[in-house]
Amino acid sequence: MDYISTRGSAPALDFAGATLAGLASDGGLYVPREWPRFSEAEIAAMAGLPYEQLAQRIMQPFVGDSVTPQRLLELTTAAYGRFAHAAVTPLKQFDEQQWLLELFHGPTLAFKDVALQLLGLFFEEFLARGTQNLTIVGATSGDTGSAAIDAVAGRAKVDIFMLHPKGRVSEVQRRQMTTVMAPNVHNIAIEGASFDDAQAMVKRMFNDSAMTGRFNIGAVNSINWARLMAQVVYYFAAALQLGAPARKVAFSVPTGNFGDVFAGYVAAKMGLPIERLIVATNVNDILHRALSSGDYSQGTVTPTAAPSMDIQVSSNFERLLFDLGGRDGAALAAQMAGFEATKAMTLTNAQREGAAALFSSARADADDMSRAIRWAWDAAGELIDPHTAIGLHAARGAGIDKSVPVVTLATAHPAKFPDAVERATGQRPELPARVGDLFEREERCVDLVGEYAAVADYVAAHATARD
Ligand SMILES: *Cc1c(COP(=O)(O)O)cnc(C)c1O
Repeated sequence: MDYISTRGSAPALDFAGATLAGLASDGGLYVPREWPRFSEAEIAAMAGLPYEQLAQRIMQPFVGDSVTPQRLLELTTAAYGRFAHAAVTPLKQFDEQQWLLELFHGPTLAFKDVALQLLGLFFEEFLARGTQNLTIVGATSGDTGSAAIDAVAGRAKVDIFMLHPKGRVSEVQRRQMTTVMAPNVHNIAIEGASFDDAQAMVKRMFNDSAMTGRFNIGAVNSINWARLMAQVVYYFAAALQLGAPARKVAFSVPTGNFGDVFAGYVAAKMGLPIERLIVATNVNDILHRALSSGDYSQGTVTPTAAPSMDIQVSSNFERLLFDLGGRDGAALAAQMAGFEATKAMTLTNAQREGAAALFSSARADADDMSRAIRWAWDAAGELIDPHTAIGLHAARGAGIDKSVPVVTLATAHPAKFPDAVERATGQRPELPARVGDLFEREERCVDLVGEYAAVADYVAAHATARD
């Protein structure tokens, strides 16, 4: 399988190359040249497989010759062996239609672990084959940072520089990043910045020849294809348990960068019968506006109780626009250049109609979110986090036919955001014992001003050259 850029001019790469490259050199994102497809009989035969085996089956067509089937199974077994639940991503039932897919049983309590635990192993595997070092530069609204740091801390040939907007991540999120003392981990708090500002700096570094000439810059954000690939697996896992392929299932996905829900689109492309993908946003609603009226224009970011979704530029939306626009890299490059110049664009008719066939969307404000947290507690005795609550709000309001199960993706453990949960229910969720003495540990982090040059200088002074 090879990977092509959404902007049409970067060289095609194999899976290992695309994983190490992250962003394509023309500023685009890598996507597989075609979507592998499973028949109904092949999907039916996956029912009941342990998660690590299901993961190997779903991912093998994407990985191609880069990893043998036996080695891939070893890697999925190692990655998912670190999860605290034997089912890795267990399903819970709220009522006759609403279900919850718990994706937070990994080491840092958010769904990012599902992909990043595996990505850390892929990096190690591919770097061991050559002489190169990798300099990971990432931006986080909270959860990617902790999950990526956990996945690569102490690994050979990798340094990680993680930027977060200072003061805009929760205390648990910050401590999960800053208390990791491995020498290859570098936390940077950007003063006066939003997540989008930090992400823009990271994207700029990938196109800065002064940096890429000296360092192999790599990505752990969901611009890295391998992350999305790993997330496709749990859509299959959940749907199989609910009767797929004989029965269709709908999913509601709390969304920021459009990564998690794009993985659902990939699952549909691979043959999984998905009735609908519901894109749930908070008041930072660029995706809801784009899907409901074709208006993809960047607003200013409003901080909310669901900070991992406080995003107004949704990087992975580019992958959907590419696929729906006939995979025309030159046309998409022009469309994205227009967006970058004016901070706004309008979807083409083909993109709007293509999206409407599978996606719907909803926006939740602070009251909607609190009500959904309370409903989960009153209806089923479940404490859910604010991000999950936005998904549940959208799921219950989507008007899906009663015969179709609706699965909300539970993207974070409620104890990552205890204040919002306590305000809504009066219950304070407890951190699971596996995170240990997080609040007693020493923290390490540098503060930098929100200017690209300051960040580039810091990375250049602390990173290991390419080889
Ligand atoms: C990252 C994150 C999201 C948004 O996921 P995307 O893939 O960026 O759409 C939602 N909820 C939580 C808890 C997250 O950490």
